[in-house]
Amino acid sequence: MCIFCSIIEGNIPSKKVYEDDEILAILDISQTTKGHTLVMPKKHYENFLEMPAEEFGRLMEKTKDIAARVVNNLHANGCNILINTNEVAGQTVMHTHVHIIPRYDENDSISIQFNENKLDLDEVLKQINQD
Ligand code: AMP
Ligand code: ZN
Repeated sequence: MCIFCSIIEGNIPSKKVYEDDEILAILDISQTTKGHTLVMPKKHYENFLEMPAEEFGRLMEKTKDIAARVVNNLHANGCNILINTNEVAGQTVMHTHVHIIPRYDENDSISIQFNENKLDLDEVLKQINQD
């Protein structure tokens, strides 16, 4: 059983932010920034690409409500919503989850940087839209 399934089953303690029949939100143990929260489906899916769209939709709907509460009540100035998908993207727990990372200022303890690459956009589009 994966570590998040063990948390969902109640076999490993967690700090619950939200729970219903389908979804659990807990404080991330790392607290990258204050209030760092993980929202996960109770059903084990390795990554969100494996989830039925309706279930993913409900997960994101709930994530929005929880993020609003976390940001407002902790007086954050914004947040990053992150889903690491597969090892190459930094996923370490193979039970899909959404990170809510409240942001307080540009020098808080997380930085996300988009580097530029010289790619032919038409060629990229062609590849994405092939059958
Ligand atoms: P990811 O790298 O996207 O797979 O994120 C996994 C996250 O789970 C990391 O941010 C960890 O800090 C967090 N984590 C791992 N174990 C626990 C735990 N027992 N309780 C709460 N968060 C955890
Ligand atoms: Zn699991």
